[in-house]
Amino acid sequence: MTQRRVAALIGSPVAHSLSPVIHQAAFDAAGDPWTYAAFDVAAGRGADAIAAMRVLGIAGLSVTMPHKQDVAAAVDRLDASAAALRSVNTVSWDGGDLVGSSTDGAGFVAALAEGGIDVHGLAVAIIGAGGAARSVIDALGRVGVDSIRVVNRTVASAESASELARVASVGTVDDIGVADLVVNASSIGMGIDPAAATAADLPCAVERLQATQVVVDLVYHPLRTAWLEAAEQVGAHTIDGLGMLIHQAALQQLVWLGRRPDVAVMRRAAEVALQERSSRAAETGR
Ligand code: NAP
Repeated sequence: MTQRRVAALIGSPVAHSLSPVIHQAAFDAAGDPWTYAAFDVAAGRGADAIAAMRVLGIAGLSVTMPHKQDVAAAVDRLDASAAALRSVNTVSWDGGDLVGSSTDGAGFVAALAEGGIDVHGLAVAIIGAGGAARSVIDALGRVGVDSIRVVNRTVASAESASELARVASVGTVDDIGVADLVVNASSIGMGIDPAAATAADLPCAVERLQATQVVVDLVYHPLRTAWLEAAEQVGAHTIDGLGMLIHQAALQQLVWLGRRPDVAVMRRAAEVALQERSSRAAETGR
């Protein structure tokens, strides 16, 4: 009998994570004898989970909040992005060593490439300066964009995030209108039904968006946010947040198994799960 291998997610909460659905769909489609589990690990216990990974021989780990920084300190080595961000979303084995990587930013760039966008030489405006924004800034700084303006409610966070790339600096809302690529990396719009959205649920005023722009929303619940719908009406090229989620997971499987999974299978599985989540929310009124 083939021995099954185990990959797992650690985070808190993990109940609503799409990672188990996305990863298992790809393992099953490829016929890989891998099982993906999700463990709710209390804040402050990330290093313990890494010790457990060593003891149990877990083959690959996905890491989400609130453990990304603790895990960066607990593994044996970091890849370049994880070292720059001091944040890990993927743990893999290299011989007897545990290696921490960060695939979020590279996943974002891969999602743009899938959408036919060449980021080389683009002027970028990023709204937000949290974990998602930092990954994107780090990755865009490595692939030859012309400039990155970081627009955030808390300026100190924008200053810190803009230190991640040589071409990045703190921006204002005026930078949004003149950017080639506009990214909502804030949590504004998350969980908001587009039909019920108000101006406060939009990362920026729709009037700032242009038909010539590529507009990306990293929020993926709902998949079509009010902001993305508005950008589409303006005539912009829009990309939803599922692309980054799927591609960061695909890069995790590349690290763990040394092969590229079927991203179309992963996306379909995520869309079904999101649809079920929306239907449940409509039924329960939450
Ligand atoms: P985070 O670290 O908590 O950062 C949240 C960011 O949103 C901060 O910059 C915060 O500004 C800003 N923000 C929140 N509420 C705001 C408001 N009312 N007005 C103005 N700014 C506000 O969160 P994160 O991990 O970066 O995640 C951000 C979003 O990206 C979430 O919706 C998450 O689901 C999504 N995400 C998507 C992917 C993907 O694969 N598609 C991956 C990661 C995250 P302050 O600094 O001023 O607080």
